[in-house]
Amino acid sequence: MSDVHTPEQRSRNMAAVRGRDTKPELELRRALHGLGFRYRLNVRTLPGTPDLVLPARNALLFVHGCFWHGHDCPLFVLPRARRDFWLDKIGRNQLRDRQHHDRLHDAGWRIGTVWECAMRGRSSPGVTATAATVERFLRSADCREMYFRDNGAHAGAGHPLSLAERFGSAQVSGSDEGNLDRGAV
Ligand SMILES: [Zn+2]
Repeated sequence: MSDVHTPEQRSRNMAAVRGRDTKPELELRRALHGLGFRYRLNVRTLPGTPDLVLPARNALLFVHGCFWHGHDCPLFVLPRARRDFWLDKIGRNQLRDRQHHDRLHDAGWRIGTVWECAMRGRSSPGVTATAATVERFLRSADCREMYFRDNGAHAGAGHPLSLAERFGSAQVSGSDEGNLDRGAV
């Protein structure tokens, strides 16, 4: 085996990074729609093309695949083959995520980040429970940032640990986008 992901998983991951409709995202959208929310999808005029945007609530949601966005959770497994390639690629994704998040935050948006592991995986709360906590975030007027993952909902941005922090900095610190931000911000 040269890769820890099955073709099916890889295909799902590829769909996620391309912004196509993944099953957990579709289920979450359906659940939120059932709760009465109406939203715009994949708004390309906003940084990072947020998956769901609710302008009336000044809120947007990203649904992040845990592999492509480098989540520090059991769904992220660094492939053994081409390790440096993946560290670099996903490290860049993480950097971009942070930049998009900062720009949206500065523009006054309320930002919810729904990690894949909130909806699938062994310790996932499941789509229904996650949709209920997302609903509370969406209906609150003042909660600026919330993230949803395998162990529940949390206030704050919930950026994953950088891959440099998790796997050592040698491979990812030399990218032409500069060092990953390891500051406290
Ligand atoms: Zn995760």
